[in-house]
Amino acid sequence: VRAAGGGMPGGALLPQVKNVILVGAGKGGVGKSTVALNLATALAQHGAKVGLLDADFYGPSVPLMTGLADKKPVSPDGKSLDPLLAHGLKVMSIGFLVEADQALIWRGPMLHGALMQLVRDVNWGELDYLVLDLPPGTGDVALSLSQSIRAAGAVLVTTPQDVALADVVRAKQMFDKVHIPVLGIVENMSQFVCPNCSHATPIFNHGGGRKAAEMFGIPFLGEIPLDLKVRESGDSGVPVVVGAKDSLEAKAFQEVARNV
Ligand code: ADP
Repeated sequence: VRAAGGGMPGGALLPQVKNVILVGAGKGGVGKSTVALNLATALAQHGAKVGLLDADFYGPSVPLMTGLADKKPVSPDGKSLDPLLAHGLKVMSIGFLVEADQALIWRGPMLHGALMQLVRDVNWGELDYLVLDLPPGTGDVALSLSQSIRAAGAVLVTTPQDVALADVVRAKQMFDKVHIPVLGIVENMSQFVCPNCSHATPIFNHGGGRKAAEMFGIPFLGEIPLDLKVRESGDSGVPVVVGAKDSLEAKAFQEVARNV
């Protein structure tokens, strides 16, 4: 593991965080949270001190994916919040702070306020990496973050087919606009490898993520197979890099962590 962005600190709001890594996607459902969680966990497995901040305001899935769905963070002083701990990570999610079925319409100032609370008012302590799971698509949160913290950069997650890639182009343009460097692209749900015969079927096509990375002249960070274990691990609260750490999928996530 090497420090992304040359060890650039997280800025005045996060002085004890060496690297803030944003994980974004042009649209929902491509596996952004799955990549954020497994990337963070793989970095922690290499001995780094890692936090995972779920700022996906419209569908926070990190509580479920870390097995913390019924937990609430506590405040040691009535002002700040202690992150929860899972799989070697310090975890905070907007999902811990609002009820799952609460229909919330987050608008600009409210969204910025909640985001700052998650960043500034959480006792993250010293971290090598804070991996931040962004909401899909829109630039509100990225814009808000770009004005308040210094991110080492963003990892973009896409599925391989053309419709998803059109979204990744928009996402790249959005990060360019708010001056957040894009560290590279991860292709998720890239091929289905049959567990019985090892035959690879490109269900959502294959290779589009690498093509997009080449087009932008940015690194291709790796491809994660479409696999039942990944979905099951998300639902069971144990990331695949922990629960099936010798699997093809876990190795693919570990490679992404090495490449970031
Ligand atoms: P996003 O954050 O982009 O909305 P999620 O990470 O929540 O997407 O993933 C959406 C669903 O797809 C989840 O049920 C997750 O477990 C599943 N999933 C993600 N990546 C894979 C994969 N490589 N193989 C199988 N299922 C996956």
